[in-house]
Amino acid sequence: MEISHIRNFAIIAHIDHGKSTLADRIMEQTATVSQRESKAQLLDDLAVEQAHGVTVKSRTVRNFYTAADGQEYEYNLIDTPGHVDFSYEVSKSLAASDGAILLVDATQGVQAQTVANLRLALKNGLKVLPVINKIDSAMAEVEQTEQQIKQLAVQFLDSPILKISAKTGLGVDAVLEAIKDYFPAPAGQTKAPLKALVFDSVYDPFKGIIAYVRIVDGQLTAKTPVLLMAHDQKLPNKEIGSFMPQLTALDSLNVGEVGYLVTGLKDPQALRVGDTITSQTTPTAQALPGYEPAKSMVFAGFYPKDDHYHDLQLAIEKLALNDSSFHYAAEVSDALGPGFRCGFLGIFHLQIIRERLHDEYQLDVLTTAPNVTYRVHLKTDDTLMVNNPIKFPYFADIDYVEEPFSNATITTGNDVLGDVMQLADSHKGQLVDMANQGDLIELHYRLPISEIAYDFFNALKSISHGYATLETTFADYDIADVVKVEVNVNYATVDALSFIVHREDAPAMTQKLVEKLKHTIPRKLYPMPTQAIVEGKSFARVDVPPLRKNAAVNGEKRSTSKKQALLRRQSVNKRQAAQSDVTLSQDVFNAVLELS
Ligand code: GDP
Ligand code: MG
Repeated sequence: MEISHIRNFAIIAHIDHGKSTLADRIMEQTATVSQRESKAQLLDDLAVEQAHGVTVKSRTVRNFYTAADGQEYEYNLIDTPGHVDFSYEVSKSLAASDGAILLVDATQGVQAQTVANLRLALKNGLKVLPVINKIDSAMAEVEQTEQQIKQLAVQFLDSPILKISAKTGLGVDAVLEAIKDYFPAPAGQTKAPLKALVFDSVYDPFKGIIAYVRIVDGQLTAKTPVLLMAHDQKLPNKEIGSFMPQLTALDSLNVGEVGYLVTGLKDPQALRVGDTITSQTTPTAQALPGYEPAKSMVFAGFYPKDDHYHDLQLAIEKLALNDSSFHYAAEVSDALGPGFRCGFLGIFHLQIIRERLHDEYQLDVLTTAPNVTYRVHLKTDDTLMVNNPIKFPYFADIDYVEEPFSNATITTGNDVLGDVMQLADSHKGQLVDMANQGDLIELHYRLPISEIAYDFFNALKSISHGYATLETTFADYDIADVVKVEVNVNYATVDALSFIVHREDAPAMTQKLVEKLKHTIPRKLYPMPTQAIVEGKSFARVDVPPLRKNAAVNGEKRSTSKKQALLRRQSVNKRQAAQSDVTLSQDVFNAVLELS
């Protein structure tokens, strides 16, 4: 297709405002899919993926639109992961787009996530087309929603504000016209050497790694032998094509177009999202700027539950390919054996990965308490970056510790402002400034990342009834008074239960912890002292009660406590062979996870 007739765009919206429904209507009205097919919400869900095989996972689709001017246009609709809490993922798809439809539900008006998504789109230099949806609804407040949009940002005052019903299709024809009139055609040079941006990738069990690409310059043909610039890796070209929405092979992808390239690579680490693909014969001199690799903010250990280490390894590798912001490295714990230290954008991301391991790979993992990366300055003048509590240096060797801070933007309604500010306060947040965004308030905080790593996001959602949004970016490292808490069960340290806390929170937290462990550690025949140790001192202690009082012990009559003492000694002896005889279930870890 002629570059001037191509439009690459995304739809952004608060959840449930009608993104999937509008995407369906667009595919339908451009006859990309039949009406019957589109009922399944093609861009959206896994049931469809299963029915069509992995190919439908292309959350990007090419539509051909015959405009009122009689000309045919190629519309590449690039689906964004809906969640602004994955702003890294969203910005990847936005980097492949030139425009964004900002969809607002007329029955709900502008929501925090509308604002957050808009900000991301503008940051990526996209033209934004505001569209009010659900005007068919009896509850629609079209006028009011329009006012809210006008208050939002001056940046798109020159665009019309369209009013539609994605459900009935009313007004969708005007959206299709506006896409060509209002969004720019891709910029790029047909004659220049090939430069293609990898903006996403998936793993296909038969084809290997499939890269989603946008051709920035030049042309990619089915015969072009390609070069992945990040690792200087040469590949024969296996297959190229576009998303219709199922993968459909083509002879060429031209400048401005969006499509896929089957790399044939099997190693999930071999392809980086953000990489530049060029031609081996006439390579470009300069790679695209790519993306800043996502920085892991939160780390936790993942350990296989039964003996599924290799299954877990494979699953983790594949997930990492699908999600370039997920990182991992092998680690070994005395208590749990081999596992992985995994890095996440935040705790919510951690939960999603756990769910995906469960849903897509039928694997359940033991998850250790999450933590950030600490910068530990030793008395020897050495500096260590520590993201694993097991490896936190001995306290007497430490000079001082620094922890990462984030700049956090919270967008919220006025009604819960007080609660939101109190929440940030109780998490050691420093308010930097606040600003109005129409009817919403934007709060800027400086917060220790360790404080947002645990329950902060959930607490924010809960006090704002799901509406407030949180966006965080790494700020810097700063001094932190933190200590390592070690957990001893029956006098043996259970390494995988160690975690790092702010010193001032240590007394209360350790007390809460041992109380919880009392009820989660599996009981033995004898009472087991369970202690939280900080800097060599026991901060809190409970005895996990024995299973039965009258434990059977061979030999002469003894008092119950003597029998128990004997059993404990036997256990201590056994422990010299096996490190710890405590079985660690996820419940035990949850005692730490649910602390703050
Ligand atoms: P998404 O989360 O933004 O993808 O939203 P969906 O497309 O899944 O829509 C959320 C809900 O709103 C669904 O129940 C849709 O049927 C409904 N919906 C979407 N568009 C309209 C519309 O124009 N009018 C009405 N009345 N309902 C709509
Ligand atoms: Mg949806």
